[in-house]
Amino acid sequence: MVDIQQILKRLQINEVNPAYSTGSVWAEVDSSNTRTIYSPVDGKPIGKVNMATAADYNKATEQAQQAFNAWRAVPAPRRGEIVRQVGNALREAKDDLGALVSYEMGKSLQEGLGEVQEMIDICDFAVGQSRQLYGLTMQSERPLHRMYEQYHPLGVVGIISAFNFPVAVWSWNAMLALVCGNTCVWKPSEKTPLTAVACQHIISKVFKANDIPDGVCCLVIGDREIGSLMANDPRVALVSATGSTRMGKAVATAVAARLGKVLLELGGNNAIIITPDANLEMALIGTVFGAVGTAGQRCTSTRRLIIHSSVYDDFKQKLVSAYKQIRIGNPLDSNNHMGPLIDTDAVKSYLDAIEKCKAEGGNFVVEGGVLDGEGYASGCYVKPCIAEVENSYAIVQHETFAPILYLIKYNTLDEAIALQNGVPQGLSSAIMTNNLREAELFLSGAGSDCGIANVNIGTSGAEIGGAFGGEKETGGGRESGSDAWKAYMRRQTNTINYSTELPLAQGIKFDF
Ligand code: NAD
Repeated sequence: MVDIQQILKRLQINEVNPAYSTGSVWAEVDSSNTRTIYSPVDGKPIGKVNMATAADYNKATEQAQQAFNAWRAVPAPRRGEIVRQVGNALREAKDDLGALVSYEMGKSLQEGLGEVQEMIDICDFAVGQSRQLYGLTMQSERPLHRMYEQYHPLGVVGIISAFNFPVAVWSWNAMLALVCGNTCVWKPSEKTPLTAVACQHIISKVFKANDIPDGVCCLVIGDREIGSLMANDPRVALVSATGSTRMGKAVATAVAARLGKVLLELGGNNAIIITPDANLEMALIGTVFGAVGTAGQRCTSTRRLIIHSSVYDDFKQKLVSAYKQIRIGNPLDSNNHMGPLIDTDAVKSYLDAIEKCKAEGGNFVVEGGVLDGEGYASGCYVKPCIAEVENSYAIVQHETFAPILYLIKYNTLDEAIALQNGVPQGLSSAIMTNNLREAELFLSGAGSDCGIANVNIGTSGAEIGGAFGGEKETGGGRESGSDAWKAYMRRQTNTINYSTELPLAQGIKFDF
């Protein structure tokens, strides 16, 4: 078992941690006004934080704005070199940071380490990207003219992150934003601020060693009021917000009112279609990992299974017996498959969803419930459950952030695709099939309407190389790989006339 006290010490987590940091500068600690952060693993206090005031937020954002002038002047490949060093610092801290992610958030140690690996991967990706901030060159219709486009940094990028990926989501945004020449202000989830403090210490050391000006990467610890200040702040050129659809609508409305830019990564309601041609053993692994991994608290968790009537009963039986083998308990113990929910509010939402499902007619083939007794003292451990439902139930249309899996029967693939698309969210989707025609239809314009569509893979576990995000109420943003970097830059079209005439476009004559 890991020694949390030693890990906290190595990660520079103190008894009370400051409300903000602009890099080498940290706010004064106020021991009289603190919030205690408890672990969902054992219910014990991990540490305390000061919550930022509006004045604290302003100081950090002002510093980020000042630092922008210096940081944008650093050549992009040199900015990439700093990010390369951040990646190395994360490699060194991987074991400790991964364990703290697991202890503060409740995901399994393997998943905590996997989350830090994603941070390292995006650093590597961003280093390469720093030499590839390409614009196109176009052919001008005017003689002796050159036309091309350039990408310039935006300014201050605000990052609002959710509890379930407490550190990776920040790095997906920050590492790309940094190589693009922006400065960052991060407001992590108020449920997981200590992993954020640890990241700030890691990055600050690298910045200090390279004489990077204070303010390039700032951290502000706060709850939704600080997020709201950020959304309304015209100094923040881009607000990248990850969390619930409710939060996304509030942030999008505030940013739109000032015509700022947003990048939204919101809730999902992800389904796997299991066809008669599926390899049911593969489908079983993909489904169970997707539904119970991170205790159903991934934006890409599998929430709905749309199963062909010819394999429905067989697959249901396989699932029921697989669920009997799931070991629930301390996520730092690698023998367990599933840890706790984040807090007792999340347990209430889980119980509420089960009640609503039953009231609408749902038939539970694996019953849920809260676990108590030895090892479950935090009150956050629940049983993963499975219900047979109709897609139209209000509760099925809603994302419940918990391990509740809904089974829905279908007869034709068109019907299955309509069910899969028949929810307000559009994040991740999958089909299990060995039939090429079914797979291609699912991936076609008439198929899945989600940002992520997989064949013979579950809905969760994306790689950083692809653009990550979803449609409809998932918010439309794309982060991480492919050309997601463009969201952190402004595009400028440049035309240079190297003739001695001034011909006008569209053949317009303007003689005098
Ligand atoms: P949440 O919406 O409660 O909080 C997320 C963040 O938004 C927190 O930092 C919070 O302080 C802030 N916030 C809340 N209300 C705000 C407001 N009105 N203005 C500004 N900021 C505000 O979400 P959560 O419970 O932390 O996370 C779970 C949700 O996040 C799920 O819906 C999940 O699907 C989603 N999520 C999506 C992705 C994705 O990439 N699509 C990734 C991770 C999580």
